[in-house]
Amino acid sequence: MKEMKIKKNHNDVQNILKRLDDLAYNLWWSWNPRAQEIFKEFSPLIWEATNHNPVAIRKQFSETELLARLGDQDFLSRLLSVLDSFESYMKKRDGDGGSKSSRKPDKLIAYFCAEFGIHECLPFYSGGLGILAGDHVKSASDLNIPLIGVGLFYRQGYFQQRIDPNGNQQENYPTTDPTNVPVELVLDQTGKPLICSVTIGNSVVHFQGWKVNVGRSVIYLLDTDVPENDEHFRGLTALAYGGDINTRIRQEIILGIGGVRFLRALKIEPTVFHMNEGHAAFLTLELYREQLAKNIPKNKAKLSVRNQCIFTTHTPVPAGHDRFPADLIEFTLKPFADWMKISIKELMRCGQTVNMEERGEFVMTILGLKFSRVANGVSEKHGQISRLMWSDLYPGVKSNKVPIGHVTNGIHITSWASGRAWEFWERHNSHRWKDHLNDPKFWKHVTNSKIVSDNELWALRYEQRRDLVEFIRSLARNQKAFGGPTGEEALYRLLSFDALTIGFARRFAPYKRALLLFSDLVKAQELFDDPQRPIQIIFAGKAHPRDNDGKEFLHQVIDMTHKHPFFGKVIFLENYDMNVAHHLISGCDVWLNNPRRPLEASGTSGQKIAINGGLHLSILDGWWSEAYNGKNGWAIGEKVKDNSSPEEIDRRDADSLYNVLSNDLIPAFYQRDKNGIPKKWIERMRNAMRTIIPVYNTHRMVTEYSKKYYFTKK
Ligand SMILES: *Cc1c(COP(=O)(O)O)cnc(C)c1O
Repeated sequence: MKEMKIKKNHNDVQNILKRLDDLAYNLWWSWNPRAQEIFKEFSPLIWEATNHNPVAIRKQFSETELLARLGDQDFLSRLLSVLDSFESYMKKRDGDGGSKSSRKPDKLIAYFCAEFGIHECLPFYSGGLGILAGDHVKSASDLNIPLIGVGLFYRQGYFQQRIDPNGNQQENYPTTDPTNVPVELVLDQTGKPLICSVTIGNSVVHFQGWKVNVGRSVIYLLDTDVPENDEHFRGLTALAYGGDINTRIRQEIILGIGGVRFLRALKIEPTVFHMNEGHAAFLTLELYREQLAKNIPKNKAKLSVRNQCIFTTHTPVPAGHDRFPADLIEFTLKPFADWMKISIKELMRCGQTVNMEERGEFVMTILGLKFSRVANGVSEKHGQISRLMWSDLYPGVKSNKVPIGHVTNGIHITSWASGRAWEFWERHNSHRWKDHLNDPKFWKHVTNSKIVSDNELWALRYEQRRDLVEFIRSLARNQKAFGGPTGEEALYRLLSFDALTIGFARRFAPYKRALLLFSDLVKAQELFDDPQRPIQIIFAGKAHPRDNDGKEFLHQVIDMTHKHPFFGKVIFLENYDMNVAHHLISGCDVWLNNPRRPLEASGTSGQKIAINGGLHLSILDGWWSEAYNGKNGWAIGEKVKDNSSPEEIDRRDADSLYNVLSNDLIPAFYQRDKNGIPKKWIERMRNAMRTIIPVYNTHRMVTEYSKKYYFTKK
């Protein structure tokens, strides 16, 4: 009867269209596979061609078509059910995850980050930091914690990667048309774009903001591509990590100083400013300036800034911390210092420790730490390392007393569960699984063999592995530079649906040791040439455009994919982005991570696999040194500190990797009972699900930030 009503009533169609538009412009759909299905059904072609962008789909169907398609009862009822879930989510007062309302009406967190990875159709991220920021905002929305993201609108984003026939990385920067993606231009009261400005050196640089709706949270992304600007400033925010330090510092001034101004222009008054990594730390200078402008004495002003700010550091790699030479700081920020009525020397000191002032560098992490009431690393171990690393900033304080704590990173589970895993958990627990993401008791219960059988878990592995292999085969057909067979041959010969499938995807930085598995070619050949126990590995990852060592590593991996016996079993998949990541983390049986210790601050990609039934094989570094319990995955190498040479450690880690694979992991995968089930493997899957899903997720993480830092004052 509903159907008849809709067909007759123009207003009803208009109303559904309006609701569908609201849905398309809210990234809530990015963690709801049912909503994605609806958009995909309108146009599978455009869905694939636009990297799964509902706004592009919406622009491609007419009201007449919608009216006609609503005649399909099944489609109509699924559409209405998705719209209802979205709307009731938006109205809900309480947080998910079983928590009572976490909303504190008098609190508002402004979360600043140079990148946000929300969905593959919005290329505003390069890697782990951005994905973490996107997942943070999604969990804040689910938990109903008042949080606003602030970042940059990179029209050309981070590069798209292609591999040329010689095995070299090609970098493309396609331009995003903002009117064709789920973002909205922020307008002022008169309906014109809201424009703010900052002074950089001798120039005034203007910017506007794009609003991204992420469930109940929003992110504002700042963009200097406005007609008010000189030509060369219009492109300032075009590329993510694209330019040299001159571009970098100017982007960071827009983000930090500009970001605070943009919020003020919107009359948004955060109670907490969370700097996610040093890129955002200039925001402290703007807060300081605001205080001084009110004639508050310097000491009090600084204290007030400190009371508002918290800082998260993300890397123990010294080169990972932004440093700017003194003359660059002086050139870009002298007018700002003059305006604040402080000397440029005084401003410089904000980014320096006592011991390094002579060296004439300004370190963004130091600025962030000096102006924060609390700071944290992103795993227990990274917390310890950060306390040592920055102890100079706290003279007279023992390094174990340095006020840097830790909150271990996580992932947003419902974003990273595959469509199949989503159905799997729903089949066994209805929708309740989504309300218990934080609840170890729940996961202990639902991974019990009385609720999910071995057969069902094994079927889930097979379904997802096949999805991945078919995804790769379909790409390989059309890609000449692919490692392994191409063309029609690829459809039948590339990879296997039955073989133990390992994934290795991350940025190609030398310390990540992408080739550790191939460091002893004889052993590697033995592993890949065993017809009784076949294994295969899929690599993906970008090398930073200016990282020649990283590119060299990538080249070596590509070479490996052409060699016997690796051909067709060692695959390199181009353009690691959130879409490729989705396929990999759900399709792989094992996720491999073997960086040099202690350089992985946390790592998150290995956390994405547990909900999909994958197992982690990793160096005991970052999050894995906390999570590994001997039964929920595998460890490579030792946990204890080792003072041997890097080469010696590499050799020992490689030995350990070969050992675990040949003596433990591969046998567990191929030891089948009479029904073809690998009992020991499945037991490990259950252990991983119990111990990893409810802990290494952003619901737990954001709750921890709230309890420790957002909703308390020291
Ligand atoms: C999850 C993710 C990362 C972060 O992974 P690491 O564990 O830090 O290597 C990076 N890139 C993409 C596309 C991801 O999905």
